[in-house]
Amino acid sequence: MRQVSMQIGAERRPGTATFSSIDPYTGEPWAVLPEATRADVDDAVAAARAAFEGEWGALTGTARGRLLRRLGELIAESADDLAIAETRDNGKLLREMGGQVRGLPAWYDYYAGLADKIDGRVVDTGRGDFFGYVSREPVGVVASILPWNSPLLLLTFKLAPALAAGCTMIAKPSEQAPVSILLLAELFEKAGFPPGVFNTVSGASRQVGEWLVSHPGVDHVSFTGSEATGAAVAKAAAGHLAPATLELGGKSANIVFPDADLAAAANGLVAGIFAAAGQTCIAGSRGLVHQDVYDEILERVADRAARIVMGDPQQPETEMGPICFPGQLQKIQKFVAEARDAGARIVTGGDDRDMGGLFFAPTIIADVTNDAPVCQEEIFGPVLSMLRFKDEEEAVALANDSRYGLAAGLWTRDIQRAFRMTKKLRVGTVWVNAYRTLNFAMPFGGVKASGFGRENGSEGLHEYLRDKAVWIEMTGGTRDPFVLG
Ligand code: NAD
Repeated sequence: MRQVSMQIGAERRPGTATFSSIDPYTGEPWAVLPEATRADVDDAVAAARAAFEGEWGALTGTARGRLLRRLGELIAESADDLAIAETRDNGKLLREMGGQVRGLPAWYDYYAGLADKIDGRVVDTGRGDFFGYVSREPVGVVASILPWNSPLLLLTFKLAPALAAGCTMIAKPSEQAPVSILLLAELFEKAGFPPGVFNTVSGASRQVGEWLVSHPGVDHVSFTGSEATGAAVAKAAAGHLAPATLELGGKSANIVFPDADLAAAANGLVAGIFAAAGQTCIAGSRGLVHQDVYDEILERVADRAARIVMGDPQQPETEMGPICFPGQLQKIQKFVAEARDAGARIVTGGDDRDMGGLFFAPTIIADVTNDAPVCQEEIFGPVLSMLRFKDEEEAVALANDSRYGLAAGLWTRDIQRAFRMTKKLRVGTVWVNAYRTLNFAMPFGGVKASGFGRENGSEGLHEYLRDKAVWIEMTGGTRDPFVLG
């Protein structure tokens, strides 16, 4: 069993109580982690505050950038270990987790480049007696609450810009996939960061997260997870008036027009929902297909879905691993059973695969309407609901008829249609003739119940900065103390 400790300031804390992480492929516990106490959370916040007000806060942007680059190099050196930890924690493919981890240094390089370009601006105050400028300053101590599906990637969306801005952080990983986040903290000292810049607290229940986000010493909360938890987290943060960035769920539409390259579109539908066994916020879980090509697309996607290779997520030939934990599998089963009972047609899959572990077959549900629970609720599993539309207007209406608004895919060769549609879709990201592409440079986030705030790109940096207005009196004059001016 691998033993992992929390990082609190300069100290590694194994914890007085512990919990285990279960490998969803073997069903066996494989790592032991600390159960943080309230005192651990207090100490982590104090350590982050001390670093912010101390050595870290005094560094120049150039020096911060150098440390970010070094961190990226160390991540690259530890990539295999970190990726295996993620696969053992959440059961996602090693080739997906490995690709994500090996991609992380690019995020640290990108934000290292921005760390010394946080310029303010001089303002024309409209009056001759004052010089005005705006400086941009780090928000301070950031609490990150993370989900289990891509722990290090989603942490990096927060950590790289927060560090570039000059903030410090306490990260609380998911109880389902905590190991890689705790391992990452070990690299900070090696990279040369002062203690307290990055701290970790772990726990088996929601309690540790609740303590952290409601802590008055936290200046900003950055959350990625489900809609219901996001609302609770924002409320707790508001209790001490800390703003929150929320990256929540989705029910994204992958929309196919007859003029598209149909082979590419079918492949895009498969990528959208069966990659990562659908356990991704950007899952294209609603396939919206024009009536003229609906049957053809359905046949192509169903054919590929039925041939998906399920098995050990560490094996290179595996295309879908297990579902992360039993509660998640039960949620998927419940949605599919309800759809079946309501008369929906299960084109392929629809059941657990009898192969041990937590496997659920790639599933396509047809003949449903958009108001069905499988079209409205986030299932977070390999379940594609197929809907037919007759024209562009109906496609937009169906795509937008969701309380979520994270992403959409659009398959067409008509450039005018692409521009028209991308403007009308109420989502944070639109892919045209592609699906499930992300990187450090493009802002990412949702609208409606998919959350608010943006990660990545220069927009991601702004989340961790606050503007300060400075007025400098230049004449030495005295003003009427009883009037504003
Ligand atoms: P979750 O909401 O169950 O848990 C997320 C985190 O919140 C965990 O660390 C959990 O311990 C913690 N938590 C739970 N209750 C809390 C509370 N009251 N206070 C503070 N922390 C609390 O989500 P999950 O099941 O881990 O992840 C799946 C969800 O995340 C899906 O809805 C998915 O769409 C979403 N997600 C969104 C994005 C995005 O960028 N938009 C990315 C990945 C996942």
